Amino acid sequence: MSTFCVVGGGLAGLEFALHSALKGHRIVIYEAGPQLRTNHVHFDTRVFDGDEKKVHWTADEHWALGGISERLGGRSLCYHGVMLPLEEKALNSWPEIWQKRLKGPAGLYHQLQQEFTAKYPEMSRNQAVNLPLHHAPQAAVVGESAAFTSYSPLYQLEPLIRDGVITIERATISQVEKKSDGFYLVDAQGQTVNTTGFERCILSASALVNNKIITQSLARSTIAQVTDHYCIGVAVKVREGERIADYRHEMLWHGFSEHHDLNANIFVVERNNFDNGDRLLLLMAVMEQNPALSDYSELHCRYHEGKTTLEIQSKHSDAVIENYNQLASRIVDFASTQLGVRLSPLHDTAVEQSEAFFGASEGIDFEQALNALNETERTNIYTRFVFPYGAYEHESCTHPIGGHGDIALTDSLELTAMPGVYAIGPGAFPRLGIANPALTICSLSRWLASHL
Ligand SMILES: Cc1cc2nc3c(=O)[nH]c(=O)nc-3n(C[C@H](O)[C@H](O)[C@H](O)COP(=O)(O)OP(=O)(O)OC[C@H]3O[C@@H](n4cnc5c(N)ncnc54)[C@H](O)[C@@H]3O)c2cc1C
Repeated sequence: MSTFCVVGGGLAGLEFALHSALKGHRIVIYEAGPQLRTNHVHFDTRVFDGDEKKVHWTADEHWALGGISERLGGRSLCYHGVMLPLEEKALNSWPEIWQKRLKGPAGLYHQLQQEFTAKYPEMSRNQAVNLPLHHAPQAAVVGESAAFTSYSPLYQLEPLIRDGVITIERATISQVEKKSDGFYLVDAQGQTVNTTGFERCILSASALVNNKIITQSLARSTIAQVTDHYCIGVAVKVREGERIADYRHEMLWHGFSEHHDLNANIFVVERNNFDNGDRLLLLMAVMEQNPALSDYSELHCRYHEGKTTLEIQSKHSDAVIENYNQLASRIVDFASTQLGVRLSPLHDTAVEQSEAFFGASEGIDFEQALNALNETERTNIYTRFVFPYGAYEHESCTHPIGGHGDIALTDSLELTAMPGVYAIGPGAFPRLGIANPALTICSLSRWLASHL
Protein backbone atom coordinates (compact mmCIF):
# COMPACT_ATOMS: atom_id res chain seq x y z
CA MET A 1 0.00 0.00 0.00
CA SER A 2 1.46 3.39 -1.00
CA THR A 3 1.01 6.44 1.18
CA PHE A 4 0.34 9.78 -0.49
CA CYS A 5 -0.06 13.20 1.08
CA VAL A 6 -2.64 15.70 -0.11
CA VAL A 7 -2.12 19.41 0.69
CA GLY A 8 -5.53 21.11 0.90
CA GLY A 9 -8.83 19.36 1.53
CA GLY A 10 -11.06 21.28 -0.87
CA LEU A 11 -12.98 20.03 -3.89
CA ALA A 12 -9.87 18.98 -5.85
CA GLY A 13 -7.94 17.44 -2.94
CA LEU A 14 -10.81 15.49 -1.40
CA GLU A 15 -11.94 14.18 -4.77
CA PHE A 16 -8.45 12.81 -5.31
CA ALA A 17 -8.18 11.47 -1.73
CA LEU A 18 -11.52 9.65 -1.92
CA HIS A 19 -10.83 7.94 -5.23
CA SER A 20 -7.20 7.16 -4.51
CA ALA A 21 -8.21 5.60 -1.16
CA LEU A 22 -10.89 3.55 -2.92
CA LYS A 23 -8.13 2.22 -5.16
CA GLY A 24 -6.22 0.97 -2.12
CA HIS A 25 -3.82 3.78 -1.23
CA ARG A 26 -3.35 5.33 2.19
CA ILE A 27 -3.87 9.09 2.21
CA VAL A 28 -2.93 11.79 4.69
CA ILE A 29 -4.67 15.12 4.02
CA TYR A 30 -3.13 18.32 5.45
CA GLU A 31 -5.74 21.04 5.67
CA ALA A 32 -5.30 24.63 6.88
CA GLY A 33 -8.91 25.26 7.86
CA PRO A 34 -11.05 23.81 10.64
CA GLN A 35 -13.05 20.64 10.42
CA LEU A 36 -16.18 22.11 12.00
CA ARG A 37 -18.40 22.63 8.99
CA THR A 38 -19.54 19.31 7.65
CA ASN A 39 -22.38 20.53 5.45
CA HIS A 40 -23.23 23.17 2.88
CA VAL A 41 -23.71 26.68 4.33
CA HIS A 42 -27.32 26.62 3.18
CA PHE A 43 -27.92 23.48 5.21
CA ASP A 44 -25.86 24.32 8.26
CA THR A 45 -26.21 28.06 8.74
CA ARG A 46 -23.93 28.39 11.77
CA VAL A 47 -20.94 30.67 11.23
CA PHE A 48 -17.64 28.93 11.88
CA ASP A 49 -14.03 29.97 12.09
CA GLY A 50 -12.76 29.43 8.55
CA ASP A 51 -15.83 30.84 6.79
CA GLU A 52 -14.12 34.20 6.49
CA LYS A 53 -11.67 34.84 3.65
CA LYS A 54 -7.97 34.96 4.34
CA VAL A 55 -6.12 37.33 2.03
CA HIS A 56 -2.76 36.04 0.90
CA TRP A 57 -1.78 38.40 -1.89
CA THR A 58 -1.40 41.99 -2.97
CA ALA A 59 -2.77 43.18 -6.30
CA ASP A 60 -3.22 46.24 -8.45
CA GLU A 61 -6.67 47.84 -8.46
CA HIS A 62 -7.90 45.60 -11.30
CA TRP A 63 -7.60 42.28 -9.45
CA ALA A 64 -9.91 42.02 -6.48
CA LEU A 65 -8.56 41.27 -3.04
CA GLY A 66 -10.98 38.39 -2.69
CA GLY A 67 -9.02 36.04 -0.48
CA ILE A 68 -9.54 32.32 -0.04
CA SER A 69 -11.52 30.68 2.76
CA GLU A 70 -9.65 28.07 4.72
CA ARG A 71 -11.85 25.20 5.84
CA LEU A 72 -12.03 21.47 5.30
CA GLY A 73 -14.24 20.83 2.30
CA GLY A 74 -13.10 24.08 0.67
CA ARG A 75 -15.52 26.02 -1.44
CA SER A 76 -17.60 22.94 -2.21
CA LEU A 77 -19.34 23.67 1.12
CA CYS A 78 -20.78 26.90 -0.26
CA TYR A 79 -20.84 26.52 -4.05
CA HIS A 80 -23.81 26.09 -6.39
CA GLY A 81 -22.81 22.64 -7.68
CA VAL A 82 -23.13 23.74 -11.34
CA MET A 83 -21.43 20.96 -13.33
CA LEU A 84 -20.71 22.06 -16.90
CA PRO A 85 -18.13 20.56 -19.26
CA LEU A 86 -15.71 22.95 -20.93
CA GLU A 87 -17.03 24.04 -24.30
CA GLU A 88 -15.37 22.62 -27.42
CA LYS A 89 -13.60 25.88 -28.36
CA ALA A 90 -11.69 26.04 -25.05
CA LEU A 91 -11.06 22.32 -24.80
CA ASN A 92 -9.47 22.33 -28.25
CA SER A 93 -6.54 24.27 -26.83
CA TRP A 94 -5.91 21.59 -24.17
CA PRO A 95 -3.37 18.86 -25.06
CA GLU A 96 -4.97 16.23 -27.26
CA ILE A 97 -4.49 13.52 -24.67
CA TRP A 98 -6.58 15.51 -22.19
CA GLN A 99 -9.31 16.08 -24.77
CA LYS A 100 -9.50 12.30 -25.14
CA ARG A 101 -9.55 11.76 -21.36
CA LEU A 102 -12.38 14.26 -20.85
CA LYS A 103 -14.61 13.95 -23.94
CA GLY A 104 -16.70 11.27 -25.61
CA PRO A 105 -18.83 8.41 -24.30
CA ALA A 106 -15.85 6.84 -22.46
CA GLY A 107 -14.53 10.21 -21.20
CA LEU A 108 -14.53 11.50 -17.65
CA TYR A 109 -17.15 14.18 -18.28
CA HIS A 110 -19.71 11.59 -19.34
CA GLN A 111 -18.78 9.26 -16.49
CA LEU A 112 -19.13 11.96 -13.82
CA GLN A 113 -22.29 13.45 -15.34
CA GLN A 114 -23.94 10.02 -15.22
CA GLU A 115 -22.84 9.45 -11.64
CA PHE A 116 -24.07 12.87 -10.44
CA THR A 117 -27.32 12.52 -12.38
CA ALA A 118 -28.08 9.26 -10.57
CA LYS A 119 -27.61 10.94 -7.18
CA TYR A 120 -28.65 14.57 -7.60
CA PRO A 121 -32.12 15.45 -8.92
CA GLU A 122 -31.05 18.98 -9.92
CA MET A 123 -28.63 17.58 -12.52
CA SER A 124 -31.49 16.67 -14.81
CA ARG A 125 -34.68 18.14 -13.34
CA ASN A 126 -36.94 18.94 -16.22
CA GLN A 127 -38.69 22.00 -14.82
CA ALA A 128 -40.71 23.73 -17.50
CA VAL A 129 -39.18 27.18 -18.04
CA ASN A 130 -40.93 29.77 -20.12
CA LEU A 131 -37.75 31.12 -21.77
CA PRO A 132 -35.37 29.56 -24.29
CA LEU A 133 -32.77 28.51 -21.68
CA HIS A 134 -30.60 25.42 -21.28
CA HIS A 135 -31.08 23.53 -18.04
CA ALA A 136 -28.22 24.37 -15.61
CA PRO A 137 -27.09 20.94 -14.35
CA GLN A 138 -26.42 21.21 -10.61
CA ALA A 139 -25.11 18.33 -8.51
CA ALA A 140 -27.46 19.54 -5.81
CA VAL A 141 -30.54 18.65 -3.85
CA VAL A 142 -33.11 20.79 -2.05
CA GLY A 143 -34.37 18.91 0.97
CA GLU A 144 -36.90 19.62 3.68
CA SER A 145 -37.19 23.24 4.90
CA ALA A 146 -35.54 24.32 1.63
CA ALA A 147 -32.16 22.99 2.80
CA PHE A 148 -29.79 23.16 -0.17
CA THR A 149 -26.78 20.92 -0.40
CA SER A 150 -24.50 20.14 -3.31
CA TYR A 151 -21.94 17.49 -4.15
CA SER A 152 -18.80 17.39 -2.05
CA PRO A 153 -16.51 14.36 -1.71
CA LEU A 154 -16.30 15.26 2.00
CA TYR A 155 -19.62 13.50 2.66
CA GLN A 156 -18.21 10.15 1.53
CA LEU A 157 -15.02 10.09 3.57
CA GLU A 158 -16.31 8.87 6.93
CA PRO A 159 -15.92 5.09 6.47
CA LEU A 160 -12.43 5.57 5.02
CA ILE A 161 -11.41 7.78 7.95
CA ARG A 162 -12.87 5.26 10.41
CA ASP A 163 -10.85 2.46 8.79
CA GLY A 164 -7.67 4.51 8.95
CA VAL A 165 -7.28 4.65 5.15
CA ILE A 166 -7.63 8.43 5.12
CA THR A 167 -6.25 10.66 7.88
CA ILE A 168 -6.88 14.40 8.11
CA GLU A 169 -4.36 16.58 9.94
CA ARG A 170 -4.75 20.30 10.58
CA ALA A 171 -1.72 22.20 9.22
CA THR A 172 -1.00 25.15 6.96
CA ILE A 173 1.65 23.79 4.63
CA SER A 174 4.21 26.15 3.15
CA GLN A 175 6.82 23.84 1.65
CA VAL A 176 7.50 20.36 0.27
CA GLU A 177 10.95 18.82 0.78
CA LYS A 178 12.27 15.75 -1.01
CA LYS A 179 14.52 13.45 1.00
CA SER A 180 15.94 10.05 0.14
CA ASP A 181 12.96 8.24 1.71
CA GLY A 182 10.22 10.44 0.25
CA PHE A 183 8.44 13.76 0.64
CA TYR A 184 8.22 15.82 3.84
CA LEU A 185 5.93 18.79 4.45
CA VAL A 186 6.88 21.92 6.35
CA ASP A 187 4.19 24.09 7.94
CA ALA A 188 3.91 27.87 8.16
CA GLN A 189 5.86 27.83 11.47
CA GLY A 190 8.75 25.94 9.86
CA GLN A 191 7.94 22.60 11.56
CA THR A 192 8.12 19.36 9.59
CA VAL A 193 4.73 17.70 10.02
CA ASN A 194 5.43 14.06 9.05
CA THR A 195 7.92 11.60 10.50
CA THR A 196 7.93 9.12 7.60
CA GLY A 197 8.36 10.18 3.98
CA PHE A 198 5.41 10.13 1.56
CA GLU A 199 5.77 8.38 -1.78
CA ARG A 200 3.91 11.09 -3.68
CA CYS A 201 2.69 14.59 -2.81
CA ILE A 202 -0.46 16.11 -4.30
CA LEU A 203 -0.91 19.89 -4.10
CA SER A 204 -4.55 20.99 -4.01
CA ALA A 205 -4.53 24.14 -1.88
CA SER A 206 -6.15 26.28 -4.68
CA ALA A 207 -4.72 27.73 -7.87
CA LEU A 208 -2.96 30.55 -6.02
CA VAL A 209 -1.71 28.79 -2.88
CA ASN A 210 -0.34 25.85 -4.90
CA ASN A 211 2.04 28.27 -6.63
CA LYS A 212 3.06 29.78 -3.30
CA ILE A 213 3.98 26.32 -1.98
CA ILE A 214 5.84 25.43 -5.20
CA THR A 215 7.85 28.68 -5.00
CA GLN A 216 8.72 28.19 -1.35
CA SER A 217 9.76 24.60 -2.08
CA LEU A 218 12.00 25.57 -5.00
CA ALA A 219 13.43 28.52 -3.00
CA ARG A 220 13.28 30.76 -6.07
CA SER A 221 10.73 33.27 -7.37
CA THR A 222 8.22 32.18 -10.02
CA ILE A 223 5.99 34.03 -12.46
CA ALA A 224 2.78 32.46 -13.66
CA GLN A 225 -0.35 33.43 -15.52
CA VAL A 226 -3.64 33.69 -13.66
CA THR A 227 -7.17 34.39 -14.79
CA ASP A 228 -10.71 34.38 -13.45
CA HIS A 229 -14.14 34.79 -14.98
CA TYR A 230 -15.57 38.27 -15.38
CA CYS A 231 -19.06 38.49 -13.94
CA ILE A 232 -21.66 41.10 -14.90
CA GLY A 233 -25.18 40.93 -13.53
CA VAL A 234 -28.45 42.76 -13.89
CA ALA A 235 -31.40 42.69 -11.52
CA VAL A 236 -34.67 43.35 -13.36
CA LYS A 237 -38.03 44.53 -12.06
CA VAL A 238 -40.99 44.07 -14.42
CA ARG A 239 -44.75 44.21 -14.22
CA GLU A 240 -45.54 42.47 -17.51
CA GLY A 241 -45.84 38.78 -18.24
CA GLU A 242 -46.09 35.44 -16.49
CA ARG A 243 -43.35 34.00 -14.25
CA ILE A 244 -40.81 32.01 -16.26
CA ALA A 245 -41.06 29.17 -13.71
CA ASP A 246 -41.77 28.52 -10.03
CA TYR A 247 -39.10 29.90 -7.70
CA ARG A 248 -37.50 27.09 -5.69
CA HIS A 249 -34.24 28.19 -4.05
CA GLU A 250 -31.75 31.05 -4.26
CA MET A 251 -28.94 28.58 -5.14
CA LEU A 252 -30.86 27.07 -8.10
CA TRP A 253 -30.78 28.66 -11.53
CA HIS A 254 -33.74 28.43 -13.88
CA GLY A 255 -31.29 27.96 -16.72
CA PHE A 256 -28.64 29.60 -18.83
CA SER A 257 -28.28 31.02 -22.30
CA GLU A 258 -25.11 30.57 -24.38
CA HIS A 259 -23.50 33.69 -25.82
CA HIS A 260 -20.32 32.12 -27.09
CA ASP A 261 -19.81 34.90 -29.64
CA LEU A 262 -18.98 37.01 -26.55
CA ASN A 263 -17.26 34.17 -24.60
CA ALA A 264 -20.10 34.13 -22.09
CA ASN A 265 -23.02 32.26 -20.58
CA ILE A 266 -25.92 34.17 -19.03
CA PHE A 267 -27.52 32.45 -16.01
CA VAL A 268 -31.12 33.37 -15.19
CA VAL A 269 -33.40 32.94 -12.20
CA GLU A 270 -36.76 34.51 -11.44
CA ARG A 271 -37.10 35.08 -7.71
CA ASN A 272 -40.25 35.64 -5.65
CA ASN A 273 -42.19 38.76 -6.58
CA PHE A 274 -41.72 42.08 -4.85
CA ASP A 275 -44.36 42.95 -2.23
CA ASN A 276 -46.22 45.07 -4.79
CA GLY A 277 -46.52 42.05 -7.12
CA ASP A 278 -43.83 43.10 -9.61
CA ARG A 279 -41.50 40.38 -10.89
CA LEU A 280 -37.79 40.13 -9.99
CA LEU A 281 -35.32 38.43 -12.33
CA LEU A 282 -31.58 38.06 -11.91
CA LEU A 283 -29.35 37.58 -14.92
CA MET A 284 -25.66 36.88 -14.41
CA ALA A 285 -23.21 36.78 -17.29
CA VAL A 286 -20.04 34.73 -16.79
CA MET A 287 -17.35 35.72 -19.29
CA GLU A 288 -14.04 34.07 -20.10
CA GLN A 289 -10.87 36.13 -20.44
CA ASN A 290 -10.24 34.63 -23.87
CA PRO A 291 -6.47 34.06 -24.30
CA ALA A 292 -6.86 34.71 -28.02
CA LEU A 293 -7.92 38.27 -27.16
CA SER A 294 -5.77 39.02 -24.12
CA ASP A 295 -2.82 37.89 -22.07
CA TYR A 296 -3.85 36.52 -18.72
CA SER A 297 -2.90 38.43 -15.59
CA GLU A 298 0.41 37.66 -13.86
CA LEU A 299 0.94 35.98 -10.52
CA HIS A 300 4.33 36.86 -9.09
CA CYS A 301 5.43 34.60 -6.25
CA ARG A 302 8.45 36.38 -4.81
CA TYR A 303 10.90 34.36 -2.77
CA HIS A 304 12.98 36.58 -0.47
CA GLU A 305 14.90 35.73 2.69
CA GLY A 306 13.17 32.37 3.03
CA LYS A 307 9.61 33.71 2.63
CA THR A 308 7.23 33.81 -0.34
CA THR A 309 4.82 36.66 -1.00
CA LEU A 310 2.21 36.84 -3.77
CA GLU A 311 1.42 39.77 -6.01
CA ILE A 312 -1.01 39.88 -8.92
CA GLN A 313 -0.66 42.27 -11.84
CA SER A 314 -3.76 42.30 -13.99
CA LYS A 315 -3.94 42.58 -17.76
CA HIS A 316 -6.94 43.50 -19.85
CA SER A 317 -6.44 44.04 -23.57
CA ASP A 318 -8.61 46.50 -25.51
CA ALA A 319 -10.23 43.53 -27.23
CA VAL A 320 -11.26 41.96 -23.90
CA ILE A 321 -12.56 45.31 -22.62
CA GLU A 322 -14.59 45.68 -25.82
CA ASN A 323 -15.94 42.15 -25.32
CA TYR A 324 -16.87 43.00 -21.73
CA ASN A 325 -18.63 46.21 -22.70
CA GLN A 326 -20.57 44.42 -25.43
CA LEU A 327 -21.63 41.82 -22.88
CA ALA A 328 -22.82 44.59 -20.53
CA SER A 329 -25.14 45.74 -23.33
CA ARG A 330 -26.06 42.20 -24.41
CA ILE A 331 -27.31 41.15 -20.99
CA VAL A 332 -29.81 44.06 -20.93
CA ASP A 333 -30.86 43.48 -24.56
CA PHE A 334 -31.30 39.76 -23.85
CA ALA A 335 -33.49 40.50 -20.82
CA SER A 336 -35.57 43.07 -22.75
CA THR A 337 -36.11 40.76 -25.72
CA GLN A 338 -36.96 37.68 -23.68
CA LEU A 339 -39.34 39.55 -21.38
CA GLY A 340 -40.90 41.51 -24.23
CA VAL A 341 -40.41 44.76 -22.31
CA ARG A 342 -38.31 47.81 -23.08
CA LEU A 343 -36.19 47.96 -19.90
CA SER A 344 -34.80 51.30 -18.67
CA PRO A 345 -31.89 51.80 -16.28
CA LEU A 346 -32.87 52.53 -12.68
CA HIS A 347 -30.10 55.05 -12.21
CA ASP A 348 -29.50 57.86 -14.59
CA THR A 349 -25.74 57.33 -14.33
CA ALA A 350 -23.05 56.71 -16.90
CA VAL A 351 -22.23 53.35 -15.27
CA GLU A 352 -25.77 52.05 -15.56
CA GLN A 353 -26.27 53.17 -19.14
CA SER A 354 -22.80 53.41 -20.50
CA GLU A 355 -21.43 51.09 -23.11
CA ALA A 356 -17.98 51.84 -21.65
CA PHE A 357 -18.86 49.80 -18.59
CA PHE A 358 -15.48 48.20 -17.90
CA GLY A 359 -13.55 49.78 -15.05
CA ALA A 360 -16.50 51.97 -14.10
CA SER A 361 -18.07 48.87 -12.68
CA GLU A 362 -16.05 48.25 -9.51
CA GLY A 363 -18.07 47.72 -6.37
CA ILE A 364 -21.62 47.60 -7.66
CA ASP A 365 -22.93 45.41 -4.92
CA PHE A 366 -25.56 42.70 -5.39
CA GLU A 367 -27.51 43.44 -2.19
CA GLN A 368 -27.50 47.18 -2.96
CA ALA A 369 -28.94 46.44 -6.40
CA LEU A 370 -31.81 44.40 -4.90
CA ASN A 371 -32.53 47.02 -2.25
CA ALA A 372 -32.59 49.78 -4.83
CA LEU A 373 -35.15 47.91 -6.93
CA ASN A 374 -37.24 47.17 -3.86
CA GLU A 375 -37.33 50.81 -2.80
CA THR A 376 -38.29 52.37 -6.11
CA GLU A 377 -41.88 52.69 -7.28
CA ARG A 378 -40.77 52.49 -10.91
CA THR A 379 -41.09 49.27 -12.88
CA ASN A 380 -39.78 47.74 -16.14
CA ILE A 381 -36.31 48.74 -15.03
CA TYR A 382 -32.92 47.15 -14.43
CA THR A 383 -29.93 47.88 -12.26
CA ARG A 384 -26.46 46.38 -12.50
CA PHE A 385 -24.22 44.44 -10.12
CA VAL A 386 -20.74 42.98 -10.67
CA PHE A 387 -18.30 40.69 -8.95
CA PRO A 388 -14.92 42.29 -9.57
CA TYR A 389 -12.42 40.39 -11.75
CA GLY A 390 -10.42 38.13 -9.45
CA ALA A 391 -13.25 37.80 -6.94
CA TYR A 392 -15.40 35.29 -8.75
CA GLU A 393 -13.73 32.24 -7.15
CA HIS A 394 -12.82 30.67 -10.51
CA GLU A 395 -9.15 31.72 -10.43
CA SER A 396 -7.18 29.30 -12.57
CA CYS A 397 -4.40 28.46 -15.11
CA THR A 398 -1.57 29.24 -12.63
CA HIS A 399 0.34 25.96 -13.14
CA PRO A 400 -1.06 24.72 -16.43
CA ILE A 401 -0.63 21.31 -18.01
CA GLY A 402 1.94 21.83 -20.75
CA GLY A 403 2.97 25.26 -19.41
CA HIS A 404 6.45 26.72 -19.19
CA GLY A 405 9.07 27.13 -16.49
CA ASP A 406 9.09 25.95 -12.88
CA ILE A 407 5.32 25.82 -12.49
CA ALA A 408 4.57 23.70 -15.60
CA LEU A 409 2.82 20.36 -15.29
CA THR A 410 3.31 17.32 -17.51
CA ASP A 411 0.32 15.62 -19.14
CA SER A 412 0.28 13.43 -16.01
CA LEU A 413 -0.19 16.50 -13.74
CA GLU A 414 3.34 16.08 -12.35
CA LEU A 415 5.44 19.17 -11.68
CA THR A 416 8.30 19.25 -14.17
CA ALA A 417 10.49 21.00 -11.57
CA MET A 418 9.68 18.49 -8.77
CA PRO A 419 9.03 14.96 -10.01
CA GLY A 420 6.80 13.03 -7.61
CA VAL A 421 4.84 16.20 -6.75
CA TYR A 422 1.50 16.65 -8.56
CA ALA A 423 -0.84 19.64 -8.70
CA ILE A 424 -4.62 19.54 -9.23
CA GLY A 425 -7.53 21.98 -9.24
CA PRO A 426 -8.28 24.83 -11.67
CA GLY A 427 -4.63 25.95 -11.53
CA ALA A 428 -3.86 22.98 -13.81
CA PHE A 429 -6.23 24.13 -16.58
CA PRO A 430 -4.41 25.24 -19.76
CA ARG A 431 -7.49 27.35 -20.53
CA LEU A 432 -10.42 28.23 -18.27
CA GLY A 433 -13.15 28.43 -20.91
CA ILE A 434 -16.62 29.75 -20.24
CA ALA A 435 -17.98 26.86 -18.15
CA ASN A 436 -17.89 26.83 -14.34
CA PRO A 437 -14.87 24.72 -13.38
CA ALA A 438 -16.12 22.09 -10.87
CA LEU A 439 -16.82 19.25 -13.32
CA THR A 440 -13.36 19.66 -14.85
CA ILE A 441 -11.75 19.93 -11.38
CA CYS A 442 -13.36 16.63 -10.32
CA SER A 443 -12.34 15.02 -13.63
CA LEU A 444 -8.66 15.92 -13.19
CA SER A 445 -8.64 14.58 -9.61
CA ARG A 446 -10.34 11.35 -10.66
CA TRP A 447 -7.88 10.86 -13.48
CA LEU A 448 -4.88 11.35 -11.18
CA ALA A 449 -6.35 8.91 -8.64
CA SER A 450 -6.58 6.27 -11.39
CA HIS A 451 -3.18 7.11 -12.80
CA LEU A 452 -1.22 6.81 -9.52
C1 LIG B 1 -20.33 30.83 -3.68
C2 LIG B 1 -19.56 30.01 -4.70
C3 LIG B 1 -20.27 29.33 -5.68
C4 LIG B 1 -19.56 28.57 -6.61
N1 LIG B 1 -20.30 27.84 -7.48
C5 LIG B 1 -19.68 27.05 -8.36
C6 LIG B 1 -20.45 26.24 -9.24
O1 LIG B 1 -21.67 26.19 -9.17
N2 LIG B 1 -19.79 25.48 -10.15
C7 LIG B 1 -18.43 25.51 -10.23
O2 LIG B 1 -17.92 24.86 -11.15
N3 LIG B 1 -17.68 26.24 -9.40
C8 LIG B 1 -18.27 27.00 -8.45
N4 LIG B 1 -17.52 27.73 -7.58
C9 LIG B 1 -16.05 27.65 -7.68
C10 LIG B 1 -15.51 26.36 -7.04
O3 LIG B 1 -16.02 26.25 -5.73
C11 LIG B 1 -13.97 26.41 -6.99
O4 LIG B 1 -13.51 26.52 -8.32
C12 LIG B 1 -13.39 25.12 -6.38
O5 LIG B 1 -13.81 24.97 -5.04
C13 LIG B 1 -11.87 25.15 -6.40
O6 LIG B 1 -11.42 23.93 -5.85
P1 LIG B 1 -10.01 23.79 -5.12
O7 LIG B 1 -10.01 22.45 -4.45
O8 LIG B 1 -8.93 24.12 -6.08
O9 LIG B 1 -10.02 24.95 -4.03
P2 LIG B 1 -10.83 25.06 -2.66
O10 LIG B 1 -12.17 24.45 -2.77
O11 LIG B 1 -10.73 26.48 -2.25
O12 LIG B 1 -9.96 24.16 -1.66
C14 LIG B 1 -8.64 24.54 -1.26
C15 LIG B 1 -8.39 23.91 0.11
O13 LIG B 1 -7.04 24.10 0.49
C16 LIG B 1 -6.98 24.53 1.83
N5 LIG B 1 -5.71 25.26 1.97
C17 LIG B 1 -5.41 26.50 1.50
N6 LIG B 1 -4.12 26.80 1.79
C18 LIG B 1 -3.61 25.73 2.44
C19 LIG B 1 -2.31 25.42 2.97
N7 LIG B 1 -1.29 26.28 2.89
N8 LIG B 1 -2.12 24.20 3.58
C20 LIG B 1 -3.14 23.32 3.68
N9 LIG B 1 -4.39 23.57 3.18
C21 LIG B 1 -4.62 24.73 2.55
C22 LIG B 1 -8.23 25.37 2.00
O14 LIG B 1 -8.59 25.50 3.37
C23 LIG B 1 -9.24 24.54 1.21
O15 LIG B 1 -9.82 23.52 1.96
C24 LIG B 1 -18.15 28.50 -6.61
C25 LIG B 1 -17.45 29.19 -5.61
C26 LIG B 1 -18.13 29.93 -4.65
C27 LIG B 1 -17.37 30.62 -3.57
